[in-house]
Amino acid sequence: MKKIGFIGLGNMGKGMSINLSKENLQIFGYDINNNAYKNLKNHNILIANNLKNLIDESEIIITMLPDGLAVGKVWSEIITYSTPGKYIVDCSTIDVKTSRFVQMQAKEKGLMTLDAPVSGGVIGADQGTLTFMVGGKSQIYNEMKFLFEIMGKNSILCGEEGSGQSAKICNNMLLASTMIAVGESFNLGKNLGLDLNKLFEVISTSTGSCWAVNSYCPIKGIGPISPADKNYEGGFATALMYKDLGLAVDAAAETESNINYGIQTYKKYKYLTENKKGNLDFSNIINE
Ligand code: NAD
Repeated sequence: MKKIGFIGLGNMGKGMSINLSKENLQIFGYDINNNAYKNLKNHNILIANNLKNLIDESEIIITMLPDGLAVGKVWSEIITYSTPGKYIVDCSTIDVKTSRFVQMQAKEKGLMTLDAPVSGGVIGADQGTLTFMVGGKSQIYNEMKFLFEIMGKNSILCGEEGSGQSAKICNNMLLASTMIAVGESFNLGKNLGLDLNKLFEVISTSTGSCWAVNSYCPIKGIGPISPADKNYEGGFATALMYKDLGLAVDAAAETESNINYGIQTYKKYKYLTENKKGNLDFSNIINE
């Protein structure tokens, strides 16, 4: 039975680790926040006493951490305590530079690595329907693909180390801007006296259709159930989207790419995050 260590059992890591635990795998979990373990009761997940204990026990280690700082810290310990031949897969969303740097350090120690950030949110993590955007060597990708098939429904090898992160920030910059545009469109429809259910029917089957409308409509009572129906609680936090947009803005500066809409979008999410709304779902942007 393969032994998998899972580090970072928060909103995303919870569902992902639980889905792995339902297969013929031995899962070890670790998180610095003890509250994270409460969600794992009644699941076949062994809690590691500490990080070193998890590293010693695992053949493959998955990290699902908030940001590049946490990944840098945790990977440094993994690299220190691992023996050659171990696999490390980072599913967090972090900056491309840190991702490449930690993978290069791991490689020097004889470790096999991938970056594999995800799309699909907490629902996708719980239901095992995530999309993985993967960077790294194709042989390692092929060996780790079984994990992506358990935790998700799609995985795409985008290129060398760091390419998964590059694809992820491009996707999220587009999503964040799209959400603002969806809000403006439905607001105009409301002001024109349209029945918003009818507008949803039209847009979701017309050229304006997009994930933000069809699967995550940000207006209460319209379209599928989404965080809008729960007063924007849960879902994908505005602060995390702001973090991802910051990664895109930095990457654009480094590559001298023109992202005018992206910068406007970044400023809107910055404002919301700094005005104590960072914990609400990112679709709450339509109300600003
Ligand atoms: P989260 O804050 O809920 O979970 C992160 C977990 O990591 C927390 O439980 C925290 O205690 C733990 N942690 C932090 N530092 C640690 C350390 N040094 N050692 C061990 N554990 C540590 O965040 P999340 O929503 O699960 O997101 C995780 C990553 O996935 C982020 O990079 C985020 O951008 C990305 N992501 C999130 C979503 C979403 O909808 N929430 C969607 C796609 C991608």
